[in-house]
Amino acid sequence: MSTRTTVITGIGSLVTNDPGHGTGPLGLLTDAAVVIDGETVAWVGPAAQAPAADEHFDAGGRALLPGFVDSHAHLVFAGDRTAEFNARMSGQSYSAGGIRTTVAATRAASDAELDANVAGFVREALRQGTTTIECKSGYGLTVGDEARALRIAAKHTPETTYLGAHIVAPEYAEDPAGYVDLVTGEMLDACAPHARWVDVFCEKGAFDGDQARAVLTAGIERGLTPRVHANQLTYGPGVQLAVELGAASADHCTHLTDEDVAALAGSATVATLLPGAEFSTRAEYPSGRRLLDAGAVVALSTDCNPGSSFTSSMAFCIAVAVREMGMTPDEAVWAATAGGAHALRRSDVGTVAVGARADLLLLDAPSHVHLAYRPGVPLTAAVWRAGIREV
Ligand SMILES: [Zn+2]
Repeated sequence: MSTRTTVITGIGSLVTNDPGHGTGPLGLLTDAAVVIDGETVAWVGPAAQAPAADEHFDAGGRALLPGFVDSHAHLVFAGDRTAEFNARMSGQSYSAGGIRTTVAATRAASDAELDANVAGFVREALRQGTTTIECKSGYGLTVGDEARALRIAAKHTPETTYLGAHIVAPEYAEDPAGYVDLVTGEMLDACAPHARWVDVFCEKGAFDGDQARAVLTAGIERGLTPRVHANQLTYGPGVQLAVELGAASADHCTHLTDEDVAALAGSATVATLLPGAEFSTRAEYPSGRRLLDAGAVVALSTDCNPGSSFTSSMAFCIAVAVREMGMTPDEAVWAATAGGAHALRRSDVGTVAVGARADLLLLDAPSHVHLAYRPGVPLTAAVWRAGIREV
């Protein structure tokens, strides 16, 4: 079967994330060209050697990079929490309990409303260069509502995560053990067919280490791969548990002991940092520098959710990571592309290489550094997802 090919020439600066292909960890090439064949990248190299193609796109000297891989988002919900944010910015502190507000609104919403909300957020992210996005359940907290959330999420992304253990359902406030039984039993049975991952909010006020272990172990036994909300608000067992169970990612990693950092550095578990959460809760940022210096693999993600981080902008996360978390612009861009791909155990995204999916972000800027250098400025010039020009 023949497919249409497109050659993109005039790429002033190309981030390949393939160190074998260019300079530094970003595998940077200048004066480059890329050929798209159908859904995949068919050729990468110097513009002067680019082969002919059916169609031609001139990048005009601008920067091209892999589409962002947002490996942590909560998109299946209804309502918003503007009032809570406003109160917090007026002096109140964040606690995990605010999730219950969104649970009530989500349960009351129709399937069509939830589906439209997810579609809208995926589109919003795509317009900003995000071509892969993970999506969690966790605002239903009943068997039917969690399964519904994952069914809807699966229509929009293959990266679906069962997060029945987001917080103890209000009906089980006096019986958290009973809720863990539900999450590891009937609810898991209903959700596993629609999910790739299992996640748990391991935190004071949510689930302790033993409960989190039970949730993750049950998910693993059903064929799901674990990822963990770990060490966000306080020090705790989440990171060690993630590493011990071979989780793809430990997410947040804001409060880490030296032992936690060493465990991440010595493992295949990615440390996924979510600076939108600290930004939106006026909290202390995680240290990207400390993790990178120790040798951990770091990803950046939005944590897009209505309570603690209502942003879908990976560019914003890059800018904050550079300004507040000790990361260089190169490290932050890598973390938002290749890092996210590692956190989702994907080798077909987060890179511009022959055979990779043709997920490409063209910036209205000559360099990827502008993502941090020009914070808040819309820099998306074009986006291809699986070879199709979407923006
Ligand atoms: Zn989250």
